[in-house]
Amino acid sequence: MSTFEIKRRVSDKIFVGNVAVGGDAPITVQSMTNTNTCDVLATLAQIQALESAGADIIRVSVPTMDAAKAFKELKQHTTVPLIADIHFDYRIALKVAEYGADCLRINPGNIGNEKRIRSVVDCARDRNIPIRIGVNAGSLERDLQEKYGEPTPEALLESALRHIGILEKYDFANFKISVKASDVALAVSAYRLLAERISQPLHLGITEAGGFRAGAVKSAIGIGLLLSEGIGDTLRVSLAADPVQEIKVGFDILKSLRLRSRGINFIACPTCSRQEFDVISTVNQLEQRLEDIVTPLDVSIIGCVVNGPGEALVSTIGVAGSKTKSAFYLHGIRQQKRFNNESIIDELEAEIRNVVSTTLKQ
Ligand code: SF4
Repeated sequence: MSTFEIKRRVSDKIFVGNVAVGGDAPITVQSMTNTNTCDVLATLAQIQALESAGADIIRVSVPTMDAAKAFKELKQHTTVPLIADIHFDYRIALKVAEYGADCLRINPGNIGNEKRIRSVVDCARDRNIPIRIGVNAGSLERDLQEKYGEPTPEALLESALRHIGILEKYDFANFKISVKASDVALAVSAYRLLAERISQPLHLGITEAGGFRAGAVKSAIGIGLLLSEGIGDTLRVSLAADPVQEIKVGFDILKSLRLRSRGINFIACPTCSRQEFDVISTVNQLEQRLEDIVTPLDVSIIGCVVNGPGEALVSTIGVAGSKTKSAFYLHGIRQQKRFNNESIIDELEAEIRNVVSTTLKQ
């Protein structure tokens, strides 16, 4: 276990439904449905899939009044907090607030005249609903584009401070905010600037990051850099892929930095001709078989004795490959029992489940 600890930026704590964001709360992982919100059954199925994968908070698009009605039904059948994503129409914001939205994703600068802004802010205050401001390099205000020539960290910061200024004018501080860009360096710089200026929680993300592999890499670099500096209270990995993957990658990023654990953290060697059993297939199959486990556990699966014993010493369960039968370590101690290489996947699964059930009984 690493003793290196990241010191998190001190932010205000807000609540999205019953889930705390910011302050000393665990960093939350969220995603967004991509079904037609009016198709309640399909959207509910996706919400359940995201929740099973560990989503703490789920965002749903509400572009029309019909979608707002569907949102009401979704709220009646879900327990995970739902954020209503509204872009311009303040009447939709008021309606979903009435229907129990746990957070409103709407930019104050896009709501319109003072009267409309005031009605949304008053409604959010009365119902204790936070607002999420989302600044995006792709939809920066025209005057800021002209002023800065292109999206820059300073332009994103200025846009963010504008939206925040509107909420401050109405003495409303119950918000979280993102300053996303598809360019990793731009997003990271913008978040760093914003983190120095405000105390509210920051929602991290590299927007429009791309397909599964490239998007996961960009997100891990961008979000990971910020998290490693202590910046960030909630995150969404944006992938052109199944939203469930966004949750899995989000937890993998948090696990990598030991900021939050969920399920098994596999430590596995890249393999080489020294491997004594098929490490790649073992890891792939166990990842699939053990997806239901949420208890944090380090499992090292190493193909030979070069690095196997060393990794096993710092893992809950470890394997060091050996001819025919591989060495088995539990809590860093080598066991008499050895795994038969031919049935190593089944045997490892049984041992891991055994440890998990013992942990849960304690
Ligand atoms: Fe190869 Fe052994 Fe290193 Fe794995 S631990 S990559 S099998 S030398």
